[in-house]
Amino acid sequence: MLMPPDRVDEETGILARIRRGERVEHFETIRRRKDGRLLDISLTISPVKDVDGTIVGASKIARNITERKRVDAEIHRANRDLEQFAFSASHDLQEPLRNIKIYSELLMKRLGDRLAGEEHEFLRFVHSGATRMENLVTDLLAYTRSSQIHPTGTSTDANEVLSAVLDTLAGAIRDSNAAISSDKLPEVPMNEAHLFQILQNLVSNALKYRDPNRPTTVHVGCERQVSCNEFSVADNGIGIAPQYKETIFELFKRLHTADQYSGTGIGLSICQRIVERYGGRIWAESEVGKGSTFRFTITG
Ligand code: ADP
Repeated sequence: MLMPPDRVDEETGILARIRRGERVEHFETIRRRKDGRLLDISLTISPVKDVDGTIVGASKIARNITERKRVDAEIHRANRDLEQFAFSASHDLQEPLRNIKIYSELLMKRLGDRLAGEEHEFLRFVHSGATRMENLVTDLLAYTRSSQIHPTGTSTDANEVLSAVLDTLAGAIRDSNAAISSDKLPEVPMNEAHLFQILQNLVSNALKYRDPNRPTTVHVGCERQVSCNEFSVADNGIGIAPQYKETIFELFKRLHTADQYSGTGIGLSICQRIVERYGGRIWAESEVGKGSTFRFTITG
């Protein structure tokens, strides 16, 4: 009576486990109320034993989780809507931003000497404002796209990915005069573009947040752990105060103004999202003035 017809099979499995003396915990399913309406419940069932240890029955607790399920579904829907909104807004903003950039560049070129000092500066503000917004929109798009990652199990040579990242960052490496070293990296069960995105963000941060008072060094390493590879990107830059080691992974969280260091505060959020989609973890170890090491794990 309690079981909806499509759930009757569940009982056989549950009883088999109870006969083996196992406990069934937080088993989420659906049961029927007296009035016939269906209810989301969470079951916890334990075997009951007599003095000789023989299983003679079972005790069962069923919790009504309808409200929690409803809230979960609502949160899921709201997240999906927000994600869709961020994607559409950032996508639609690309075109007008590009126009502002292009036409302010054209104006600067055409008017060149005819502009008074201040007017030239105003135009430069328009151009740099549009460039910053363009970067923000590009990063926001990359962030929303990272929610659609579905690990496929393809294998990628991390050495090749790192070398492609260093090629892309050649300009920044030259400008910062950084010495980059790396361990021999493994093959990982990960899409190449996703690993590229993580390493590019971490290495470019290591270059950007360098300490001007000493030669910049960056080391990309990897240690084999029991069931995962633990990658690290270590720098000798300005470091991060302990109270910010977790918050820097939040969306838009930055510890500096755009005048001090350019950026959008999205890079580490993208890294965290990708790593977590692959079932891994990312964190920072750092000491102000000494440098930072970002570590992330990839299962497999
Ligand atoms: P962005 O670099 O665009 O600001 P991120 O999400 O990549 O955004 O980083 C968030 C913040 O974390 C940065 O603004 C910076 O304050 C801090 N941070 C990231 N990487 C480092 C690093 N290697 N050394 C010091 N601070 C860092």
